Amino acid sequence: MPNATAAVRSWCAGRATLPSHDGKLEGGLVLSGHTDVVPVDGQDWDTDPFKVHEANGRLFGRGVADMKGFIAVGLSLVPEFMRMKRKRPVHFALSFDEEIGCAGAPYMIEELRARGVKLDGCVVGEPSGMKVVVAHKGINMFRCRVHGKAAHSSLTDRGCNAIEHAASLICKIREIAESHKRQGPYDKAYDVPYTTLSTNQIQGGIAVNTIPELCEFTYEFRNLPGMNADALQEQIEAYIRQDLVPAMQAEHAAAGVEVSSSSRAPGLSAEEAAEITRLVRALTDDQETRKVAYGTEAGLFQSLGVPTVICGPGHIEQAHKANEFIDIEQLEECERFLRKMVATL
Ligand SMILES: [Zn+2]
Repeated sequence: MPNATAAVRSWCAGRATLPSHDGKLEGGLVLSGHTDVVPVDGQDWDTDPFKVHEANGRLFGRGVADMKGFIAVGLSLVPEFMRMKRKRPVHFALSFDEEIGCAGAPYMIEELRARGVKLDGCVVGEPSGMKVVVAHKGINMFRCRVHGKAAHSSLTDRGCNAIEHAASLICKIREIAESHKRQGPYDKAYDVPYTTLSTNQIQGGIAVNTIPELCEFTYEFRNLPGMNADALQEQIEAYIRQDLVPAMQAEHAAAGVEVSSSSRAPGLSAEEAAEITRLVRALTDDQETRKVAYGTEAGLFQSLGVPTVICGPGHIEQAHKANEFIDIEQLEECERFLRKMVATL
């Protein structure tokens, strides 16, 4: 992480900014990508995932689609960008720890906010097959620790069963999820057209004959961009405060529930009228309204007031899998796109 932090600092210090021809650093276009990749553990690769392998017009390797292809094309064009007579600067925003829930980029975003940096637009180069993606859901991940009291399982009255109380909360989360599924709000442009919630990991208990003292689980929700994620989380926390904790404390005064957020990233809902949206649409000749299920750093840039869209080479279907690949044609298309976009500036 020290290298990544240095990279963030250097970007904030303007060292990854290509100034305009008259030396301006303010405004301009951000090319955003994450430098981390997901692990290859347990995956059956035909070639070394960390050496690019070329075959049949494709490049194979971990991260070629998600999204080192975009970063490599962008960086390879730097000498050309430097020679262009540009009215506006071009910035590279390269983040770390995106794959664990957009954990790195917020440092950069906060630094930019604190410095009051103004930017005209941002393209996040996640693999979209060089099509324009204008929206994605928000990601909100939480860890929950339910503290009860251990006892011999024959003496249920003397304990406070952390697993059973955790189960009540998990059922509540499921109930909220069902209500979103039944009542919306809906956005038909998504595969799953409503806000989703789910519990995806759980641990607890030490023996079949012992009332468990501790149960830990993680849950997440993916909200439609127009929806208030804090209000949804408050709905869960209100249930914990008003129903769950009183019920637990009736059994054991010191019982309690801790909830902490492990990662959160806002959704994206791009402005169609923004210059960057119109420009990227024109250059890719793509007018379709595409909204995707996966989260990206685009919502973070938008939260800073920077108009942002997603457009990058390769396909998300190939990401995170064994034998991840990108068609060289996609990289060439990305190269033409970035060259034209920066020239238009
Ligand atoms: Zn990615």
